[in-house]
Amino acid sequence: MRKKLVAGNWKMNQNSIGISEFASKLLTKLQNSQPNSDILICPPFVYLPQLTALFEGSSVQIGAQNVSNNSKGAFTGEVSAAMLTDIGLRWCIVGHSERRKFNHETDEELIQKMELLFAEKINPIFCCGETLPDRNAEKHFEIVQQQIESTLCAMTTNIVETITIAYEPVWAIGTGVTASKEQAQEMHAFIRDLIGKQFGDSIAQNTHILYGGSVTAENAQELFSMPDIDGGLVGGASLKADSFFQIINNCK
Ligand code: PEP
Repeated sequence: MRKKLVAGNWKMNQNSIGISEFASKLLTKLQNSQPNSDILICPPFVYLPQLTALFEGSSVQIGAQNVSNNSKGAFTGEVSAAMLTDIGLRWCIVGHSERRKFNHETDEELIQKMELLFAEKINPIFCCGETLPDRNAEKHFEIVQQQIESTLCAMTTNIVETITIAYEPVWAIGTGVTASKEQAQEMHAFIRDLIGKQFGDSIAQNTHILYGGSVTAENAQELFSMPDIDGGLVGGASLKADSFFQIINNCK
């Protein structure tokens, strides 16, 4: 049975005062509950040490939102996988649609990032998902299949085993429009099937597939109750301890 994971992607939000308040609220709430999910928060790079210190010894893990596709050297402004390991991280988001769009990340770069993360024993959360025009043209399965085939299917089994997939329809990210539980479930089942065909049923059954796109305290329960949805990658609703905790609590 796959344990659910609720991962917060803070994007370029929060500040150090807000983070202290968030941490003390969330820790208090977690003290009085027994969450059924793993919990992860991915803040901007500069806040990684602060968050790591605040949540040390708790069930909350900390991860990065991005990593360089180069291992070291003259790449101004970049952060390497080895640096993430150096500060004790075990998770990193790869290929978020905002980075694909604004930073023009290519499949080749995403593969390089995941290989470097694997070498550092960091688990990638690999994002995929179609745009609204793709969905309206009923090309969503084709697009997601192509995103998976050109990255994960080009990698070795031992790396793919460490990867969590996040299905994030671009039209649902930050829009307040969520995929219905049926839309999300059919895509998650489709992705699991693709992984099964390439890497075998056991790896497919062990792969976590998160849903992302306007997850809230109100809709998390029905989404997370679907058989192939193993938790969520949560943007806006992860910024407030109250709503993030309620989403965590919706994992049964
Ligand atoms: C995200 O940042 O990956 C995301 C899904 O954002 P939101 O929950 O705000 O739609």
